[in-house]
Amino acid sequence: MTITGLRCTICDRVEPAASPAHTCPVCGPRGILDVEYDLSRVKLDLASDPRRDVRRYMPLLPLPPDARLTPLRVGGTPLVEVPELARALGIGRLWIKDDGRQPTASFKDRASFVGTARAVMHGKKAIAAASTGNAATSLAGLSASLGLDAHIFVPSTAPEAKVAQLLVYGARVFLVEADYDKTYDLCQEAVARFGWYDRSAAVNPYLVEGKKTCGHEIAEDLAATPPDWVSISVGDGCCFAGTWKGLSEMHALGILPRLPRMLGTQADGAAPLVHAFETGATDVTPVSASTVADSINVGNPRNPRKALRAARASHGALLSVSDEAILAMIPLLARASGVFGEPTGVAGLAGIKKAREQGLIGPRDSVVHVVTGSGLKDVRGAMKTVKIPGTIAPRIEAVEERLASM
Ligand SMILES: *Cc1c(COP(=O)(O)O)cnc(C)c1O
Ligand SMILES: [Zn+2]
Repeated sequence: MTITGLRCTICDRVEPAASPAHTCPVCGPRGILDVEYDLSRVKLDLASDPRRDVRRYMPLLPLPPDARLTPLRVGGTPLVEVPELARALGIGRLWIKDDGRQPTASFKDRASFVGTARAVMHGKKAIAAASTGNAATSLAGLSASLGLDAHIFVPSTAPEAKVAQLLVYGARVFLVEADYDKTYDLCQEAVARFGWYDRSAAVNPYLVEGKKTCGHEIAEDLAATPPDWVSISVGDGCCFAGTWKGLSEMHALGILPRLPRMLGTQADGAAPLVHAFETGATDVTPVSASTVADSINVGNPRNPRKALRAARASHGALLSVSDEAILAMIPLLARASGVFGEPTGVAGLAGIKKAREQGLIGPRDSVVHVVTGSGLKDVRGAMKTVKIPGTIAPRIEAVEERLASM
């Protein structure tokens, strides 16, 4: 490990690398820490590394080379170009990075990869997380792969498929009668009381490090044709900030010749980071959140500074879109590409459309959009976007009749 320290995102004070603190001892729980590395000592040998997953980037992760890792294959997700959708959105080129194809079917496995390994490293047998759904299912799955006990706090309104995953993986599940923000606070209280390892990505500085691997992969895959923009949906903002950090590291290491601008999309009903971005603030004013995109239904983002910095440092933007615009992207993407995303996973496509209409994204710009979760995670959300056909009798005439009306 080449970690030089943990820098507070509020007061800039640096904690030593060996510190057990997860947040700044001076600033308290809102003093989110950022892990810093001596990049001049990082040795990546990507050309000769046969592994096609996040282990390629181990020297850039806060884990020792001999860390005990999940045997599941995390990362190395496909990047597919979708010219038809690029045309529909009025942009030059569009690539979809399909993170629905992770072991538990969401981007969150990148963070849980690091989180579970660090829990093992610290001799913890029990680990906990609050989540809108996917961080929980991810933790439950990766914990199962390593024999850790997962304690999961999710709003009782989480989509059924995500709850099914939790229960099947054998996690201890607390279905909380509250929104994500209150659920999160309850989990923090439980972690403090019971001594579990805290996987909450917003406060645990090491978790975001796992999310960098999305940026590492995009940089490696598109080193020859660096994209103008990278687009991703934003709740707490950790995926967005982590991806930017990964891209920046690959730029600093000379692997990615040019940095993209970051486009972060929130839902109109849960857009505190957009508001902060537009008003030039460095912190958020919490809102009461409501959107069909459950994975970004976050009213009080716990990691606002990293996300706001990523948007500003990259000369990018944060914007919000309506639930209707989000849902419309599910069939549009699926029909143009064969990739089925959950509402949150496609929200950023509606963001690209809006940014193009506003002239922020140009007609020749190239964009990578990260589909952060599989559509199978929220079948009910998807069913809102399609027309369910009436049934037919098992006779060929009925098929003919139906065909004529299609
Ligand atoms: C968690 C999640 C996000 C947003 O991540 P944040 O770090 O909270 O911004 C986006 N998409 C999916 C599918 C998620 O599960
Ligand atoms: Zn501080």
